[in-house]
Amino acid sequence: MLVFDMQAVDTVAIAEQINSSLQHAWHLGCTGRSVEALTLAGEILAGAKARGDDWLAAQCDTDIAWYCFQIGKAELGLTHVRRAVDFWKLHGEPRQEAYARAYFGWLLLELGLPEEAIEEATRALDLADKVADAKAQSLATNVIGIIFWYNKQPDRAILMSERSVELARSIGDKTYECWWLVNLGGAHSEGGYIAQALGKPEEAQRMLTRALELTEQALDIAIETGDRWAARICLGNNADYYSHLGEHEKALRCMDRYQLFQENSYVRDRQQYLYTLGQIYINYGKFADARSLLLEAMELIGEGGSFDSYIQIYFYLSQAHEGLGQFDLALEAHKKYHQAYLQNSAERTQQRTRLAEIYYETKRLKEVAETETKRADTLEASYQKLQEETDILANAVYLDSLTGLYNRKYLDSRFKELTSEKRPYSIAMLDVDHFKSVNDNFSHMIGDQVLSAIGTILRNQLRITDQAIRFGGEEFVVLLAGAPRGAADVCERLRSAVEQWDWSEICNGLRVTISIGVASTLSAKSPNDILAIADQNLYTAKKTGRNRVVA
Ligand code: GH3
Ligand code: MG
Ligand code: MG
Repeated sequence: MLVFDMQAVDTVAIAEQINSSLQHAWHLGCTGRSVEALTLAGEILAGAKARGDDWLAAQCDTDIAWYCFQIGKAELGLTHVRRAVDFWKLHGEPRQEAYARAYFGWLLLELGLPEEAIEEATRALDLADKVADAKAQSLATNVIGIIFWYNKQPDRAILMSERSVELARSIGDKTYECWWLVNLGGAHSEGGYIAQALGKPEEAQRMLTRALELTEQALDIAIETGDRWAARICLGNNADYYSHLGEHEKALRCMDRYQLFQENSYVRDRQQYLYTLGQIYINYGKFADARSLLLEAMELIGEGGSFDSYIQIYFYLSQAHEGLGQFDLALEAHKKYHQAYLQNSAERTQQRTRLAEIYYETKRLKEVAETETKRADTLEASYQKLQEETDILANAVYLDSLTGLYNRKYLDSRFKELTSEKRPYSIAMLDVDHFKSVNDNFSHMIGDQVLSAIGTILRNQLRITDQAIRFGGEEFVVLLAGAPRGAADVCERLRSAVEQWDWSEICNGLRVTISIGVASTLSAKSPNDILAIADQNLYTAKKTGRNRVVA
């Protein structure tokens, strides 16, 4: 507990004391004691507010956001960092604003708002560039890297993360170097998983091995600096990478070491450890061990475990029961998982709507303030720079994160362009056959994996001139350049590729087919009309037995 003696007039001494307390909180946050860091920073914040020290309060708000992120309380972190961003902006502190904005972006991404995250992260980088602050640049670049990673663009993620690691090294910041290395490893693992899904085992192996090396480097630094939080993440990640490579004993050894860094007083961490280990045992085929760990994790739910882990635990538990031949229990656990999944989706949607509202409301207010206070020419210059940065990231805004295909927003913008297109083109509408029964018979998670695999197939099969878009749910649109005859052939190839795909890799007994309707500039002029005809053709394909192309 921090006590400030208000009688004391020695303000310099107080300021020093506060400063070192804030630094102490940061040190706690960098040595795995994030909950203590949060508590301490919260106390300093309360004191600062009571004394009307807004500068200190904004500093606290920025740091608190990071501690919230570390312990999985992103929404709470967001309310703090948003205040900090506004404050630094209002008082013309671009360096501080850059940090706060970068964390803001990271939290937005964590809460499922990637487009808003990109905007904040690019503005953070812009500010950091302006004041030439390598540390802030390194943070902002790292956040942009993570956005690419989440958007399944590992190549770009790797470039960005490498740059952020370099920047951290150039200023000798070990903590940042360690954290960004973890993310660089993560970006490589994503590349590995994508290669695996594309049926390129050698590349998958290479990428995952690189992910392990990078994470190992991060772990060395974490041990050197005493960063127990980062050490846990490194070991948990490496256990996961080894498990994917089928090296189960090595994965288990990582988890043994993980325990050395555990914060046992913290339920969420204990729970995460238990179900991560449970998952590794399942991959290993040791179902009884997995089951007892998962049951223990389950008991912690009432004591403050997170809802996300609740879903994971039921999912793995049903696999463990199944592996042990206890099908009744497996079914029961699966039903609970399914209920939790649905409930969670609904809650996440509500949360996102709420967050988006908050976000756009503050943005609007800020824009009003900006035009009143800022000179037009500086505004123009910074806007232009922002445009350039945003252009670089435009691809990410137009991507669907589950399938890695383009999204509806992209289709809308293409339709605008196609309205004045003179050359012939076709539009295909694809819909997965009996997808409801995939969800019902296997699970929503398997359903999602199917959609993700279809994304992979479409990306693989399409010519460079064609583009695949996730239209919504389990429906896809493909824009095909050139003569209509070619289009029908391409669609037939897509249909067949989906049918031939080895779905048993995802789940035994799984079969997936798609139906396709195609139409071209021969049948109508505007893209919307062509799409409507393609949709009618799709309907015919469904009515006449599915798993077919109707042109
Ligand atoms: P049909 O052959 O006639 O198309 O049958 P269907 O079962 O596929 O019917 P329909 O197209 O109406 O069903 C779509 C289902 O897709 C309903 C919805 O639950 C499911 N779905 C939509 N989006 C997603 C998603 O993102 N993930 C998962 N797992 N399921 C989704
Ligand atoms: Mg449908
Ligand atoms: Mg369908």
